[in-house]
Amino acid sequence: NHFEEAKLHPVILENVERMAYKIPTPIQKNAIPLILRGYDLLACSQTGSGKTAAFMLPVLSKIHVKLSRASAPTSNRPGERQRRAEPMALIILPTRELGIQIFEEARRFTYKSRIRPVVIYGGADMRQQKEQLARGCDVLIATPGRLMDAMERGMVALDKVRYLVMDEADRILDMGFEPTIRRILLSSDLPRDESLQTIMFSATFPNEIQVLASDFMKDDYCRLR
Ligand code: AMP
Repeated sequence: NHFEEAKLHPVILENVERMAYKIPTPIQKNAIPLILRGYDLLACSQTGSGKTAAFMLPVLSKIHVKLSRASAPTSNRPGERQRRAEPMALIILPTRELGIQIFEEARRFTYKSRIRPVVIYGGADMRQQKEQLARGCDVLIATPGRLMDAMERGMVALDKVRYLVMDEADRILDMGFEPTIRRILLSSDLPRDESLQTIMFSATFPNEIQVLASDFMKDDYCRLR
């Protein structure tokens, strides 16, 4: 299995094998090592290129290492219910459909791990999503408007986020979410220092994407075209 060369955590690698992914796609081959090494990344990729696994596998692998080091789960201890979700990874994407699709993939990749993915999106019952967030969330997959809403209601705190992914960033901007994205990135408790790794995937590179990247990513960020 060619994914073995990528030095992913064995638990995550086992799930890759279970899904019968044998040969990494070009975006996976290029992006996985860069993300594992901690670089911020702006990557060009279309749907169908395998971009989801390209960011999901290294991020989950790093989270798994961190959770294994912690002696007990940081939240969700038996009998203790956490009120706010404090995810380590935040994946922002434009639509409910993409959210559900990426959540399903995250579920398969986190099989037999302690990592708990949750998806929230607009146009759906907030109570149910609140319940899911309260049960514990390590990876939050969210559409911008619903994320802002959940933050304002105190259901989500971003101070533990170490990995921020914007998937289909050009579509996020096309749908008019740029002010919401900037509000999330600027006015929240999201760390804005070396501890945060930012990854953007986009099919196209309009000027707005370059500006967003230079505003929110480290100066030495990598570009994959
Ligand atoms: P994506 O571009 O992330 O939407 O992925 C497109 C499809 O390819 C999804 O159904 C994935 O499950 C599948 N896929 C992603 N990477 C691989 C791989 N390395 N080998 C086989 N299938 C893959």
